[in-house]
Formats: sequence, structure tokens, C-alpha cells
Amino acid sequence: MFPRRLFQIVAVGRNYADHAAELGNAVPENPILFLKPQSSVTKFPHVVQVPLSTPSLHHEVELAVKIKHTLCRPSSLEQARAAIGGYCVALDMTDRSAQNVAKKAGLPWTLAKSLDTFTPLGPEVCVDVVSDDGNLELWLTVNGKTVQRGSTKDMIFPVGVLLAYISHRITLNPGDVVLTGTPAGVGPVVPGDFLQCGITGLPQSNMVVQVIQGPNPPDAAQLLK
Ligand code: ZN
Repeated sequence: MFPRRLFQIVAVGRNYADHAAELGNAVPENPILFLKPQSSVTKFPHVVQVPLSTPSLHHEVELAVKIKHTLCRPSSLEQARAAIGGYCVALDMTDRSAQNVAKKAGLPWTLAKSLDTFTPLGPEVCVDVVSDDGNLELWLTVNGKTVQRGSTKDMIFPVGVLLAYISHRITLNPGDVVLTGTPAGVGPVVPGDFLQCGITGLPQSNMVVQVIQGPNPPDAAQLLK
């Protein structure tokens, strides 16, 4: 399903007004971009590890867009959209405590977003199967209880705009993945939880994720001893 070559994951923050509001953030004028490493991706069977150092690991269900050909400074949104090869449901697992510390200090979000197992990617749905990626409902349950349900029609920046905005700055290549932001309802997971998520009406997109206790990464002071 995924190419063996390296690919990049470009992620978008605060792309739904209701999610920006639930975390007390303003609606951005331009997409907020960050990168996630390929090493954070999990594939079936999906297992997410909660590091011992993390009091608050949050789920963020997102529509992921898979790129099928190189996209660099497109002249139109149509040209940008023509690079879409497919979609999948994704989880942008986020160490909310580390992100809040980084936000306050003006530091990068890297450690909040990028640890191993922090990016489960579900099965790919071919672009031909989706008539309108601006009207897809994303859902996520924790232990069978629905906690996130939102539509891509509520995106601040729709998929075509995101691809154009990104690729005027960062060339997208075949196999690259764009995470398009999460609707409201984010919340913590703990070891033992089971998450399920998908795109309504596309059961082939469904993904099940097991949450387990992870390792305890050392601080630099411990490594310097
Ligand atoms: Zn996210």
C-alpha cells in the first residue's frame, strides 16, 4: 500500500474552527503546517504506545490525502487537486502536555507529534471512490463510544487550498501524505483503550488501533551521567 521509498508527512493544525476553539486557539489566517516523520507511522495491526513520560496523549482523527504525482507551485486549485491519488483515515496522536509546554515557550511541536507510533494510517481509499472530499464525515470511537464526529465541509482551508498552499512552499512527491487537521472532540487515551475510526459510508477505510503502555524516554541529564 505504501511505497518503500521515503515519503514526507505534512500536517495541518487548527483547520476546523470548532477544534481551534476547544483548545482556546484563534482561527488562523493561513494554514499552520508542521512535519511528522515517516518513522511515526504504524500499519496494520495498529498499536499506539503511550510513553510513560506522557500524562496526556490525545487522539486527533484526520482525513489524510495521498499524493500520486509531483506537485510544485501549481497554477490553479484544479492542478493541485489533480495530484490526489487517494485518501485514508489517520490519527495524529499528540502529546498534549508536551505541546502546551512547547506552545508557551515558543518551541517546536516536534516531540509532541513525532514519537514512534504517533501516526497510524488506515487503508487507502482510491480517489475515484470519493465524489467530494469537501463533504466527508470523519468519526472516531474510544472503547465503542463516539467522541469525534465531524465533516470536512467545516474545514477552514479545503483540501485543494491546502495542497496549493503547501506545494507553493514544499514540493509534494508521489507517496507523500498530507494530514488535513482534526475536528472537535479530541481527548486523552490510556493503555488498554481501543480506538476505531473511519470515513462514514466508506467501511473499507475503517481502522482499529490498540493503545498500550510505551517506553520511558530518558531526559538529557540522565544520558549525560
Ligand atoms: Zn492534528
